[in-house]
Amino acid sequence: MNSPIYGAIEAGGTKFIVALATGPNEVLARASLPTTTPRETLAAVVAFLKQAEQEHGKLSALGVASFGPIDLHRGSPTYGHITSTPKAGWAQTNVLGVLEQSFPLPIGFDTDVNGAALAECRWGAAQSVDSCLYITVGTGIGGGFASDDRTLKGLIHPEMGHVRVQQLPQDDFAGVCPFHQNQCVEGLASGPALERRWGSSAHELPPEHEAWTWQVDYLAQALVNIIVVLSPECIVLGGGVMKQAHLFPPLRTRVRELLNGYLEAPQILEENDNYIVPPGLGDNAGLLGALALGMDSS
Ligand code: ADP
Ligand code: ZN
Repeated sequence: MNSPIYGAIEAGGTKFIVALATGPNEVLARASLPTTTPRETLAAVVAFLKQAEQEHGKLSALGVASFGPIDLHRGSPTYGHITSTPKAGWAQTNVLGVLEQSFPLPIGFDTDVNGAALAECRWGAAQSVDSCLYITVGTGIGGGFASDDRTLKGLIHPEMGHVRVQQLPQDDFAGVCPFHQNQCVEGLASGPALERRWGSSAHELPPEHEAWTWQVDYLAQALVNIIVVLSPECIVLGGGVMKQAHLFPPLRTRVRELLNGYLEAPQILEENDNYIVPPGLGDNAGLLGALALGMDSS
């Protein structure tokens, strides 16, 4: 019998990445579609999947790993919607409803970062352990958590980018978070925060720039807050800003310093390159997250 085919949709604010796959290393077709209006973008997603089905065979299930905020409560009238996003035109978009109309199949739906945490735990950097925290540091800062093959949902879904961190005394930047200004890690350490504070895009700041020392401090404070709450066995940091690979060694050191010997885990007490790591799945963490959600939906 042929392996079941899954549709995977990574729904992002800039682009939607869509694929047909039978497994993480068996992607049969893939496309990157610009995020324009909901109507146009979702129509393009459906058209791609229908076309790919003709070539490769019928889908068994779909998975969607989406930017948010989204409604994850099954049974809620707005389950599967993108809710209050500032992304123009996308607030109150019924993503799941549009897909269900064209594909009467099981559809897994979760946040992009929860999907990435699930995929990293199953196939990526966290595959030797049972839980994974995935944080993206990009246009925003967001976090997802997977433990024993389930993701963390709850009241809405985790909003880890808004954990409070202490601003360094030498930093008088006003912050970019519209809700918490310079009081949360997204306000101080997202890509746009770096750009606005230093007047140059984040990827142009040289590795020796003091921006990165501050960045390490803010990210370490946020990670410490999350570590003591969730107790993740592995922390994967992705997103555009974390392409600055030189951040990882000082970040590991600063996290250890801030925890100050309290957590008696060798991952934290000892010099360890395997606890705070880049995505094992590289730029595919989100898409493979959608695949994992699809596989788990049926
Ligand atoms: P998004 O968060 O929108 O999905 P990204 O994760 O690519 O997308 O994040 C975009 C942000 O990351 C921008 O603020 C950009 O300046 C920053 N960025 C992208 N690439 C790099 C890089 N190589 N080094 C530092 N910052 C980067
Ligand atoms: Zn905030």
